[in-house]
Amino acid sequence: MSSHLAQQHSVPAITSAVQLLSARRLIVKIGSALIADAETGEVRGPWLEMVIEDVVRFFARGQQVIIVTSGAVALGSCRFNYSDRSLRIQEKQTAAAIGQVQLMLSYEKSLKRHGFGLGQVLLTRSDIDDQHRRLNARSTLQQILEVGAVPVVNENDTTATAETCFGDNDRLAAQVAQMVNAEVLILLSNVDGLFTEDPHDNPLARLVTEVRCITPAIEAMAGHSASRHSSGGMVTKLMAARIAMDAGCKMVIANGNKPYPLTAIENGGPSTWFLPRAKDRATRD
Ligand code: GLU
Repeated sequence: MSSHLAQQHSVPAITSAVQLLSARRLIVKIGSALIADAETGEVRGPWLEMVIEDVVRFFARGQQVIIVTSGAVALGSCRFNYSDRSLRIQEKQTAAAIGQVQLMLSYEKSLKRHGFGLGQVLLTRSDIDDQHRRLNARSTLQQILEVGAVPVVNENDTTATAETCFGDNDRLAAQVAQMVNAEVLILLSNVDGLFTEDPHDNPLARLVTEVRCITPAIEAMAGHSASRHSSGGMVTKLMAARIAMDAGCKMVIANGNKPYPLTAIENGGPSTWFLPRAKDRATRD
């Protein structure tokens, strides 16, 4: 997205700052395109370092952050010169097994610099659908936070089958937000948010800064979005928004491809906020 557009559609700083500052627990979802350098097959270390500095700042003011990260398949597949799009399920799972190690080592290195440990949590949809496993996962996430480590979640790609996989970490992140009663879910993406039309096709397309209800008109906008075809495209982001909003959790989509992307949201950078009704927020357990 051009910076020109980004500037045009900034969200009032006060709005984003209030939403982020008032959250006790936040989920930050990081997409593959942000964390993995597709050319080199390496983690984008300097960028990750800035995100972790942002996360550490949240902890310093008494908030808790759980990271949901993609990137295992992208990193692993570079090792074999697999083309990400044409992977058979077995290749994808192998790539994930190898890439996940590289991914966690990078997070661990960055977190360690700030005195934080890391707790890796790998989940499938069946873990979340099953009440006992969901409760176990929830208490593990809470314990990880209590011992001063940062939970870093990904889908358990090596065991997930077509029936049990989320396939995209947007929905996984929304389910985690629901599971731990997070107040805010941040989806760091490679687009500024939801646009009325595809801004690549129509320069007059406007960024939608606030959504209070996912109407057919909003769904139609996601259908036009530039990133609709990627595994974490706008359609899956709206599905995630539905899960989050039903749980009374606010969700924001913003472009993570910039320095200190969480600070940028807080300072009113371009984004789309999905705000549940007060009634849904009030009935959170
Ligand atoms: N779990 C996948 C990975 O780590 C990412 C799924 C997605 O694209 O959101 O590569």
